[in-house]
Amino acid sequence: MDGYRFYIHKIRHIHVISNLLQNNEQENTMIKTKNLKKIYTTDEVETTALDNVNLEIGQGEFCAVMGPSGCGKSTLLNILGLLDNPTEGEYHFLNHDVSDNSEREQAQLRKGNIGFVFQSFNLIDELTVFENVELPLLYLGASSNKRKEKSEAALERMNMMHRRNHFPQQLSGGQQQRVAIARAVVANAKLILADEPTGNLDSDHGDNVMKLLAELNEQGTTIVMVTHSPHDADYARRVIHLFDGQIVTENMQEGFHV
Ligand code: ADP
Ligand code: MG
Repeated sequence: MDGYRFYIHKIRHIHVISNLLQNNEQENTMIKTKNLKKIYTTDEVETTALDNVNLEIGQGEFCAVMGPSGCGKSTLLNILGLLDNPTEGEYHFLNHDVSDNSEREQAQLRKGNIGFVFQSFNLIDELTVFENVELPLLYLGASSNKRKEKSEAALERMNMMHRRNHFPQQLSGGQQQRVAIARAVVANAKLILADEPTGNLDSDHGDNVMKLLAELNEQGTTIVMVTHSPHDADYARRVIHLFDGQIVTENMQEGFHV
């Protein structure tokens, strides 16, 4: 092979490798935002809740989002969870550009992919523990056998099977949050979005919830969690700090908290 041909060969080779690497990177990316902006307009007052957020989160990451009240944490989580749309910018979820999706398309993508855990648990008081957990499967049209099998497995995993016929109000806060996590994982969500999941719990119940989230992450679930607690943020591998709707710093943690 003469010098020129060798050169071309090499260039092609590098090109192929870089394509492969790029594809690999894309396959591992769960969340990617480009210049994400959210502006709320009420009574002619404009609030910029998110201001040019560029974020990439890979599959299997455990990422904490911190920052003062009102800095845009919940807004970011709602957009990442396809519950809300950005005013400007792009959002790619699992390599789908979802920025311009209809509500129906977003709901479709959300089902079975994304589970939510909120500070206030958001369980339905009129439904039993079991019925609350099977709800996402009902929306997915799963058969009653499948619903029973999966809901019981999720409750088992959260150590809540013994309370399957209780109503949420008959449980402690920590137990309610475990039911909420069971509901979030029952349809095998790839992504769990948790907005201050321990905010209403005492430290023992809070730790219990954090350990369950850490376990889910070890088993491959991607987690993005808003928290005010440095202790809870220690469970995450990566911490993103928001201020006035912008990412101000990002830290990688040394290791997992056990
Ligand atoms: P955080 O979760 O960090 O406390 P939020 O994302 O809830 O912050 O709010 C960010 C900013 O956007 C705040 O100034 C808040 O008042 C404003 N905001 C949030 N939701 C709305 C809404 N639905 N309408 C108008 N303003 C809102
Ligand atoms: Mg909030």
